[in-house]
Amino acid sequence: MPLDIVRRLLAPILDPVATSSYPTEPPLLQPATRGLPEMDPTLCADDGACATACPTGAIVVEAAGSEAAAASTWSIDAGKCIFCNACVLACPNDAIRKGSRVELAAADRAALVERAGMPRTAPAEDRLRWRIAARSGRSLHVRHLDSGSCNGCEWEIAALLNPYHDIQRLGIDFVASPRHADLLLVTGVMTANLADAARRTYEAMPEPRLVVAVGACAISGGLFANSPACAGGISGALPVDVFVPGCPPRPEALIEGLLAAIEGPRAHSDGLRDRTRPGSVGR
Ligand code: SF4
Repeated sequence: MPLDIVRRLLAPILDPVATSSYPTEPPLLQPATRGLPEMDPTLCADDGACATACPTGAIVVEAAGSEAAAASTWSIDAGKCIFCNACVLACPNDAIRKGSRVELAAADRAALVERAGMPRTAPAEDRLRWRIAARSGRSLHVRHLDSGSCNGCEWEIAALLNPYHDIQRLGIDFVASPRHADLLLVTGVMTANLADAARRTYEAMPEPRLVVAVGACAISGGLFANSPACAGGISGALPVDVFVPGCPPRPEALIEGLLAAIEGPRAHSDGLRDRTRPGSVGR
């Protein structure tokens, strides 16, 4: 149709840039996007239905009257959560709701645990710092390593290279060899069969080198944490600089994690590890 042809011809003029503005702007998420569930402590009856329904043990409900319960009665571990929403469906009081927060990266594993009514600080300040890091002219070469993934994370990593997310605009690109890489992006549980190969991949990278754990499996083992075939996450084999929760993490969450890793000083200031002993730390 002529009108359709005209519309197509005008599209690049009317909307010249289709690429995402993240991280300068907040992520543009679909309404159905699942993030970390949110909990309203005023509606919680402390019955523990959510913790019972959770397949990964991400939710902990402290018994009322216990020492810990004086400060908080409910916590969720973003490093274990697979965003399945079973807790949302199980709660009889609607105290837990589907969340849409996907920017959850942290350099400290303990920081992934959130308590009811006390979500971690909004990432706005971090976003500003990462924007500076991303535009400061530094580049980052990434080697992806699958140490036992279902490939869900790989689909999201592949999306980083499409025209919308276009991660190369931030000076980040993927390389085929660990010898050319600054950062190891690891997906999946650390299966016993691949632990040695993962260590050797890390050791082949030039210093300084970074490791980012992608997804619930790489952080905690996720659904497979209790399998005898894995060690429940990659931090037992590799020194992790940044954890990126999700199942799988959205591309924006991956970008957030990579930019957090570029901003190395924060990881250092968190006292994560002694970089003079590469490859020697497991948590
Ligand atoms: S969304 Fe699923 S994995 Fe996450 S806390 Fe709820 S039940 Fe557990």
